[in-house]
Amino acid sequence: MRIDVLTLFPEMFEGPFGRSIVGRAAAAGVVELRVHNFRDHAADRHRTVDDAPFGGGPGMVLKPEPVFAAVESLRASGQRGPLVYLSPKGRSFTQAVAREMAGQAGFILLCGRYEGLDQRVVDHLVDEEISIGDYVLSGGEPAAAVVVDAVVRLLPGALGDDASPDEESFSDGLLEYPHYTRPAEFRGWAVPEVLLSGNHEAIRRWRREQALALTQTRRPDLTRGQEHTGGTR
Ligand code: SAM
Repeated sequence: MRIDVLTLFPEMFEGPFGRSIVGRAAAAGVVELRVHNFRDHAADRHRTVDDAPFGGGPGMVLKPEPVFAAVESLRASGQRGPLVYLSPKGRSFTQAVAREMAGQAGFILLCGRYEGLDQRVVDHLVDEEISIGDYVLSGGEPAAAVVVDAVVRLLPGALGDDASPDEESFSDGLLEYPHYTRPAEFRGWAVPEVLLSGNHEAIRRWRREQALALTQTRRPDLTRGQEHTGGTR
């Protein structure tokens, strides 16, 4: 998979893209991550990317020319995937959306700043707008880092051999069951007996019950229909 990110602050991705699962996946060739400064495509001497809004009002708006030029250059380099604008007005980013995106050969993430993009970019260039939540960030960079992390860990080979994204929260519409490790007793708090029993069927049932109870308590909106599906965890 190839992911291109368009931003005014490429250095913001050095940490999130250089470490941990995303960093290792990039180093192993599971994903090709490229970060581009669309200021490099500004046409004037001052490399201007923003201007005051028509009609007045606070803040600055990102001009269309550098963004169009940056995307056209990515298209010319072979990137055929959708152009996704990180925006508080977009479709909510969920695990299902992450899975959808993980199935693509690639995509471009466009990070806004200031008051956002000139609407002509959204209307005539952007394929989809995605929001990571009902709050306003100062820029699309943290949202792009969230999307890349959630998508990359779903790619085959991104997680270690013994880890599977199929067992995690949201994978079957439930929050995940609780985990415990050694010691079996810590400050008087014991690990649930069943986990020490070696009875795999009992452990599977306990985890399923825990996942259902947790989801019903914290996220009842996710549980519709889950009680009768007899899922695997
Ligand atoms: N004026 C815009 C509004 O009220 O809808 C907010 C602009 S915000 C300060 C600057 C940039 O941050 C946006 O262009 C977008 O790229 C990004 N951004 C802000 N909140 C976001 C969110 N919840 N999800 C994804 N991107 C977000």
